[in-house]
Amino acid sequence: MQFPERVTIHEVCPRDGFQPENEWIPTEIKIEIIDALSKTGVTEIQATSFVHPRAIPQLRDAEEVLAGITKQPGVRYDALVPNLRGAQRAATTAVDVWHLMLSASESHNRENGNRVIAETLAGFPAVIDLAGQHGAEVHGGLAVAFGCPYEGEVPLEQLMWVVGEYVALGIEHVSLGDTTGMANPAQIYETMVRLQERFPDIGWTLHLHDTRGMALANVVAGLQAGIDHYDSAAGGLGGCPYAPGATGNVATEDLVHMLHLMGIETGVNLDAVISIAQRLEEIVGHPLESRILKAGKTSDLAMRV
Ligand code: ZN
Repeated sequence: MQFPERVTIHEVCPRDGFQPENEWIPTEIKIEIIDALSKTGVTEIQATSFVHPRAIPQLRDAEEVLAGITKQPGVRYDALVPNLRGAQRAATTAVDVWHLMLSASESHNRENGNRVIAETLAGFPAVIDLAGQHGAEVHGGLAVAFGCPYEGEVPLEQLMWVVGEYVALGIEHVSLGDTTGMANPAQIYETMVRLQERFPDIGWTLHLHDTRGMALANVVAGLQAGIDHYDSAAGGLGGCPYAPGATGNVATEDLVHMLHLMGIETGVNLDAVISIAQRLEEIVGHPLESRILKAGKTSDLAMRV
């Protein structure tokens, strides 16, 4: 089996991980975590989101967070920019990449943004223009790409259509989210092979939630399909601690631990990420989903024998 030799980790804890936390996380703590993550060898960090503060109160301090962090050379910082209003806020900051958001299914798009997909798409050219004026790169994100909690299966043709719309807008990097953990490995492999055939010039990222325990298996299926770019969140933060069954992203430490054992380079210092995950558990005040936090590294076990 031929796996990629190297994988790039896009760390999303400060956005996807913090977003559902109901207890306010002070701005200086968010800055502390982002700065700590930027020293682990991770080269891409999703720092915050410019969604409306009423929709996600936890991230209402996006501008302050971006102004407060110490940018590390070689690290790219991005933020979610859902619409023109968010774009106007992002334009007042020095964030490197604007991450657009769209759902692959109509019901999820309506639930998230109160619009049909075509309406959301119609708003993007103005956002992309503004990003260009500020020297920011634009990436396209697709939620519920592998299954929608309202509609079930998302047909491949539907997925191809929305990706095609991004491509028509000049987007060169697309992130596919398994937002509620519905994807299985056979589906990830098949879908990623087909998408790469159809859109050979796009850079792909997989954003996999572990809701049904399939996230790491889905990473391996993605690797088999040649995908070398993955989202993860330190501590496995994300989902909603008050919604039964909702769990977060694949934990960065679980992902890095597995990839390193497989001989795949990430450039990430695993121990540094584990320390951050421990700190995150203190900050949020509830147990995290991370397996490595619970069980330790396999290399620690070997040392004890
Ligand atoms: Zn997510």
